[in-house]
Amino acid sequence: MTRHIFITGGVVSSLGKGLTTASIGLLLESRGLRVRIQKLDPYLNVDPGTMNPFQHGEVYVLDDGTETDLDLGHYERFTNSPLSRASNVTSGRIYQEVLRKERAGEYLGDTVQVIPHVTDEIKKCVAALAGPDVDVVLTEIGGTVGDIESHPYLEAIRQFRLDVGRENVMYVHMTLLPYLRANGEMKTKPTQQSVGKLREIGIQPDVLICRCEKPITDDLKRKISLFCNVEPHEVIEEKDVDHSIYEVPLVLQEQGLDALIAKKLTLPDAETDTRSWRDMVEVLKHPDAEVEIAVVGKYIELQDSYKSIYEAVAHAGIANRVKVKVRRINAEVLEETPAEEVLAGCDGVLVPGGFGVRGVYGKINAVRHAREGGIPYFGICYGLQMAVIEFARNVLGLDGADTTENDADAKDPVICLLEEQREVTDLGGTMRLGAQPCRLLSGRARDAYGRDVVQERHRHRYELNNAYRGRLAEHGLAVTGVNEQLDLAEVVEIADHPWFVAVQYHPEFLSKPLQPHPLFASFVKAALARKARG
Ligand code: GLN
Repeated sequence: MTRHIFITGGVVSSLGKGLTTASIGLLLESRGLRVRIQKLDPYLNVDPGTMNPFQHGEVYVLDDGTETDLDLGHYERFTNSPLSRASNVTSGRIYQEVLRKERAGEYLGDTVQVIPHVTDEIKKCVAALAGPDVDVVLTEIGGTVGDIESHPYLEAIRQFRLDVGRENVMYVHMTLLPYLRANGEMKTKPTQQSVGKLREIGIQPDVLICRCEKPITDDLKRKISLFCNVEPHEVIEEKDVDHSIYEVPLVLQEQGLDALIAKKLTLPDAETDTRSWRDMVEVLKHPDAEVEIAVVGKYIELQDSYKSIYEAVAHAGIANRVKVKVRRINAEVLEETPAEEVLAGCDGVLVPGGFGVRGVYGKINAVRHAREGGIPYFGICYGLQMAVIEFARNVLGLDGADTTENDADAKDPVICLLEEQREVTDLGGTMRLGAQPCRLLSGRARDAYGRDVVQERHRHRYELNNAYRGRLAEHGLAVTGVNEQLDLAEVVEIADHPWFVAVQYHPEFLSKPLQPHPLFASFVKAALARKARG
């Protein structure tokens, strides 16, 4: 029988629920259990693909092309749980399905209501992940308890326990213990009230995970226990970590959360073997050296907008046993201030994915600076397109080179739309999405992967215009990776440069702390070499 753990959050958003869910997944997998993870998001967008990264952080893409919440990135980096379209459900998706059924007459004349029709649909999504080969399903509920839109989800997970048996379900609630500096105290009232809200719906949490700045004293645990109806040892402290988010699972393990879950859900007795994870965290804590990478983007102010990029860069640091410092640069700054100044002291330059014209000239200036200065350059998606435009303009002398995304009538459309994308009018879910094969021909990328064919995830509409491939190659920017079936350029490189590689896909989505992505690792290695050269 599959067990279920529901993770809810209270008091404030951004508590790191996704990270905690992923950490629990890791701990359970480290006990030899087969885990599935999903996130239920109460907003009405069908998926986050159309949302502004400034509001909602990066859009994370799965192998099957589903555009998902960035928390799914944590799930993939921490666990081996296979993720698919079933792993991120939104209210938009739920309502779409309910309304489809209503129009198709499937409700046989019933009045269609939130309870039971919407809640049934939610429960179906939860149950869909269970099965004979799954020991535990972790379901994270997005949003904060008390939000109007979260209500049907909480109602659904309350009912779910009755459906599958009390002994098979556990509720984990995450809250914040704010620290009042003036009187040097951590306050429990918001936690009490948040748990009160849950109990109003009929959910008594089994475990509380409390985010806090200071350690929770035994007295405080007793107080929380008394007011929230859990035992003191069921109050778990999740204090801000010193070095890295990858410490979180170890912090939870130290407090026995893994054993507590196993006991509550009567899971087999086992040791939680986190040795390799622990070793990885040690490398993170004690790097041999430091390099600095500039990430030049449009949504740079918000840490979450390029979440997977920053994580992949950190993993590359682990692979090279160095700390990678990231200098986050708003591309627009490079439109006014010379690149020599803004990028001074950086050992590598990375231009990540992006859309639209804002900051484009700054990105092109960053590419030029890296190309001419022999500074390792890594272009990802838009970062490849910028590299091609820069090369076409400044090396081939095509002043009118551009992407048709920003100039529909570009004189030299070096980046343009594929025929099939020209007809597309809907923005949601219509890009080139998901894992596709890339054949590596030669060069740095081929060497880094050590393989001829790789699968990498995509999320873009525009492509390198094949009409320019020859001229670009003649001048030194060669296509070194291709999608053979679609005849598309996937990787470009400058051989006559210490490290200049750009890819049309998103390698950051496949990097894990225990399996750093080879291209990121190779890029950071090149940055280290550059630093050593001085
Ligand atoms: N805007 C570009 C395109 O649609 C690049 C997208 C991206 O970087 N993810 O092709």
